Amino acid sequence: MTALLSVRDLAVDLPLGRWFGGGARALNILAGVTMDLQPGRTLGLVGESGSGKTTLARAILGLQPVSGGTLRFDGAELRRSADFRAIRRRTALMFQDATASLSPRMTVGEAVTEPFVIHGIRIASRRGKAAELLAEVGLPAEMAARYPHELSGGQARRVGVARALALKPSLVIADEPTAGLDVSVQAEILNLMADLKDRHGLSYLVITHNLALVRHVADRIAVLYLGRLVETGPTRAIFAGPGHPYTRSLIAAEPKPDPRQRRTDLAIRGEIPGILRRPPGCEFHTRCPVARDICRSAAPALHDLGPGHSVRCHFPETTSKGG
Ligand code: SF4
Repeated sequence: MTALLSVRDLAVDLPLGRWFGGGARALNILAGVTMDLQPGRTLGLVGESGSGKTTLARAILGLQPVSGGTLRFDGAELRRSADFRAIRRRTALMFQDATASLSPRMTVGEAVTEPFVIHGIRIASRRGKAAELLAEVGLPAEMAARYPHELSGGQARRVGVARALALKPSLVIADEPTAGLDVSVQAEILNLMADLKDRHGLSYLVITHNLALVRHVADRIAVLYLGRLVETGPTRAIFAGPGHPYTRSLIAAEPKPDPRQRRTDLAIRGEIPGILRRPPGCEFHTRCPVARDICRSAAPALHDLGPGHSVRCHFPETTSKGG
């Protein structure tokens, strides 16, 4: 099957110019990112803040220049700005702060139908279309007259989803789709996303630091650390046997009903280092609970742990037990 989205060896560099000592230095933000999203599936892109998740989403949409690698959408390579404009029409964004992403001066009805205006698409009735889109996300037509500040967090998130659906996208990029919501509202939004996925054959790229969320919604997971994928694979395989110490630590850090179940031996040390000071060798070695000497000098290669499951670590087998 042709992947809806195919990313191969993608690199993003930011030229530093004169500000950081001159010369032709560039800040390496993403490197060697390779992943596929199949139609009708959900890919969870996991990483801490500063791992490069948002840069990757921007590169996919053509909003961030890339310095290497290829991007394909539905089999067609994206090269020129016209290609990216075309995929932006087939891609919708769900923002983490739904209320802030809506203009305070626009009514809900204007907001959900704005994508037609932006893309110059004529519709018979803006009011009728707004009612149709609101019904898709379980909101009454009267909601169209309200302003964002009059909405609850859950309603704002639903309006964001309605707006995202306006142009009948194939791909939805959802950035922390449940952040800041009460647990019961989180469940409602996840059920709505699942329902829309089934009804419209949507594919989701879910960007998050929340492992519990990806465990629930994603078919596959890609774990990003300092702009490099350190582990990719089917969700079930990764949760059953995470191969990378970083993934194991993230899973071990998930809240547990019984605090005694937490694995303190897998705790990650310190903060993610800045990309200005990338550690040599394995870039995770400064925080890795099982680092050895070689990790400080030699960058690890990718190893296969099973069908579609790969991990970038010198000791994937010794570190793939437990979690
Ligand atoms: Fe840890 Fe070494 Fe594996 Fe890096 S290569 S994750 S430092 S064990």
